[in-house]
Amino acid sequence: MAKPGERVKIKTDKEEIEGVLMPEEKEFVVIKLDTGYNMGIDKQRVKAIHTISKKEEKKAEFPKEKQKKDLPTITILHTGGTIASKVDYETGGVIARFEPEEILAMFPELKDIANIKSRLVSNMFSENMRFGHYNILAKEIDKEKKAGVDGVIITHGTDTMHYTSAALSFMLKDLPMPVILAGAQRSSDRGSSDAALNLISAAFFIAANKKFAEVAVCMHENTEDKTCVILPGTKCRKMHSSRRDAFQAINVLPWARVDYDKKQANYLRTGFRKTTAKKKTQIMPMKEDLKVGIIYCCPNMYAEQFKAFSGYAGLVIDGTGLGHAPVSETDKLTKENAKIMKEIQNLIKKGTTVVMTTQTIFGAVDMNVYAPGRQLIDIGVLGNYCDMTPETAYIKLSWLLSNYPKEKAKEMFGQNLVGEISERLEYEKEFIKQ
Ligand code: GLU
Repeated sequence: MAKPGERVKIKTDKEEIEGVLMPEEKEFVVIKLDTGYNMGIDKQRVKAIHTISKKEEKKAEFPKEKQKKDLPTITILHTGGTIASKVDYETGGVIARFEPEEILAMFPELKDIANIKSRLVSNMFSENMRFGHYNILAKEIDKEKKAGVDGVIITHGTDTMHYTSAALSFMLKDLPMPVILAGAQRSSDRGSSDAALNLISAAFFIAANKKFAEVAVCMHENTEDKTCVILPGTKCRKMHSSRRDAFQAINVLPWARVDYDKKQANYLRTGFRKTTAKKKTQIMPMKEDLKVGIIYCCPNMYAEQFKAFSGYAGLVIDGTGLGHAPVSETDKLTKENAKIMKEIQNLIKKGTTVVMTTQTIFGAVDMNVYAPGRQLIDIGVLGNYCDMTPETAYIKLSWLLSNYPKEKAKEMFGQNLVGEISERLEYEKEFIKQ
């Protein structure tokens, strides 16, 4: 029996096909052709599979592409994740192991869209990222701008892609060009991979665009493998663990829709920051040793859970509903809640900046509706009326505390800096549409 990863010859009723055997998918045998494309062959049609060599030793050749004058230049910075992964044929798991050139060879369409430069910044799963990685990325993006590229694509693991897109949105002041993060839910060597459409759509959007200068995310719009959306970097989130349309815009519309088949990129709303001829972005970095935490509210909490954050510069409370925490003693079973209130007060007194967000993800915090919420405002919990996701609030708080004195950071937390807080009217308009 031929195993995935081996070079094989597949005999069907009509032809013989040579390539590397991939893990099979439902009723298909999948083979990677030497062109880089995966081909699914109906199992019914397969007469025999012969192993040619145990290990694929033939290295793909990557001829240097000639620069095409009429095409824009895009740099792809690779950070790892599923989009840059393939199946480890020994373990069956997915490992991050693609070289950038290999990705380019897999998606030859990219070469017709732009002159592509590509390099590896890191090769990691995104749950392992730290603020230091954001700083490296920001510098790499700036380097590319100085070199005169028209836009940057960052390939990224999807788990924390929305944290990175938010971080870069705050960190890159006066960004003069688009920076689009693209991930994938299925690795690039799977027949059902979303990597190609996400990456190609990101490149097509940058090439078609002459104005857009935001940090954004490009992922599948729905489960059909046809369109992608360009999502706002500070207002999107991974909302599904496995679906290809896992990323959604939160409390706003996506910026744009890309239909690569029809060669269309249409804006769904305006108000984005515009491209400029500037050669440099000002980087406002993250403090790498800063301690900021997130606490998720739930029934039966203990004050010691909050106390664990003493000494932290900031704490995001991921509250329930409109922004509530279990802080009221209402009967003899709720004595601990009064201690929680005391503990939050202590944290603030000792210098931790505490902000409120909501687990509902959609909608805004409104701590004025119920009395306990008003008490939280009174003791200094920030974030009222903001509709930032907990992740964006976490990144914003961390970035503010990295770059501004505490009092200034507190003042700025509730201000809309880069589109992370919906303007009241815009938000209500969206709400009515749903
Ligand atoms: N957990 C990994 C990551 O976020 C893989 C998931 C993915 O890329 O979608 O990097």
